[in-house]
Amino acid sequence: MVEETSGVDRAGRAVTVPHRPMLIEGEWVEAASGRTIEVENPARRGSAVAAVPRGEAEDVDRACRAAAAAFERWRLTPPRERGLAMLRIADDLEAEVEDLARLIATETGNAIRPQSRPEVRSTIDIFRYFGGVAQETKGEVVPISEQLLVYHRREPIGVVGGIVPWNSPLQLSALKVAMAITAGNTLVLKPAEDAPLCVLRLAEICVRHLPPGVLNVVTGLGEEAGAALARHPFVRKLSFTGSTEVGRLIMHAAADRIVPVSLELGGKSPALVYPDSDNEATVEGVITGMRFTRQGQSCTAGSRLFLHRSIHDSFLARLVERLSRLRVGDPLDEATDMGSIINARQFRRVCSYIEDGLAQASARVAIGGLPPREGPLTEGYFVTPTVFTGVDHGWRIAREEIFGPVLVVIPWEDEEEAIRMANDSHYGLAAYVWCRDLSRALRAAHCIESGWVQVNRGLGQLPGMSYGGFKESGIGREFSLEGMLESFTQRKAVVVDLTR
Ligand code: NAD
Repeated sequence: MVEETSGVDRAGRAVTVPHRPMLIEGEWVEAASGRTIEVENPARRGSAVAAVPRGEAEDVDRACRAAAAAFERWRLTPPRERGLAMLRIADDLEAEVEDLARLIATETGNAIRPQSRPEVRSTIDIFRYFGGVAQETKGEVVPISEQLLVYHRREPIGVVGGIVPWNSPLQLSALKVAMAITAGNTLVLKPAEDAPLCVLRLAEICVRHLPPGVLNVVTGLGEEAGAALARHPFVRKLSFTGSTEVGRLIMHAAADRIVPVSLELGGKSPALVYPDSDNEATVEGVITGMRFTRQGQSCTAGSRLFLHRSIHDSFLARLVERLSRLRVGDPLDEATDMGSIINARQFRRVCSYIEDGLAQASARVAIGGLPPREGPLTEGYFVTPTVFTGVDHGWRIAREEIFGPVLVVIPWEDEEEAIRMANDSHYGLAAYVWCRDLSRALRAAHCIESGWVQVNRGLGQLPGMSYGGFKESGIGREFSLEGMLESFTQRKAVVVDLTR
């Protein structure tokens, strides 16, 4: 399945890169146009690691037709068998943790030890969780009268169009695959153009355990393959993870055809630190929650740090000291804590936010700033951990999703005021409360307008918890049985007259 393609890299040098076809109806195919897109290694500017098909409307159409045909049988496959397929996929993934982790690190720039390997582990957990709950797609009997048997069935919806971003490409694809397909739907998945390789590898594993057409993967650009998928008349449900801007386009496309839509979008999540939590464990938690080891490229990054004024300076000193010890560099090196930003466009975007912060007269850079202009880090899109203090909550760097390793620190004294600032955002995805007094912590947790609040914890989502956003951070829930039932099944009521 891996062929070589000759071409030139972005610097104009002749290169031969592996070529990975895409998956339609169980076959590994090229785009109808024959066109390809290159996948760059962001830790080495300009070096292509592979080429994938540049799928467009015609390819999406083939995939949707294949998915619609496969749905006729897959919907009738017993849930237990669908669940077993997920468990087998998980077992096969176990054998490929290292290869997949290296692939993710190479195409995303995410460091292998703190980020890429744990992403593969979390992907395995996702398949095991949904495989385990497959038979819970139950309906209910409704006790209306002795003369009537009234019951609800949970039925799959049909062809799902899934679109995912590049920041956790394997895990986010696994969620779409496991939730949609376990519930009896078939799927056409469009990975991000920057990180399709691990998704294609995942698809290779999945097709060993699924009939042809149940899972299809069309690689390509968002405005071509993605937009065609969002509009395709055979798609009965859209499930999108990505930016709020593109989420809006997806919702418009869904509205045009009245199809249900789930959106997992952006965030600018608050982390509130109380006076009783000026300690090393909280500093570690804040760094984890900010997803510094993913270069801050996470929708759930706790990127607005609200520090109580009484501990502001001491906590900041601990934070800066710890961040100064993070090792930035080669994502494949086990010693690396932080890899590179995904691509040139995001790199420029992150730098423009840093410039914006630097231009504010009262802002102070506690650590970091613009990336180095010489040395080994200039080989890739590397940005070092950056913390701004003296930040006004109204500034752009405090309001917009930077999607880079840039943390803003805002002091607070009054709890109500801190929560008001935390909620003063059009986003509402995640939040972190660091407070040892649990009644205060829970009071804050209940007042914060976010779909996910963590108290004294900065790690990631766990299968079984319902995860999703408030406000412009999204619609629908993932990671849980409830999310799967709400987003990937539809209820049918059956009424039987028992008197005849
Ligand atoms: P993006 O919205 O640019 O792209 C996401 C996906 O949509 C990609 O596959 C892309 O090709 C596709 N796409 C782009 N334009 C499209 C169009 N016009 N029609 C259809 N598809 C299109 O996002 P990104 O830059 O890849 O990822 C970063 C964003 O994703 C951030 O805003 C982040 O917060 C968000 N995100 C959210 C979650 C969550 O769970 N809430 C998780 C990860 C990332």
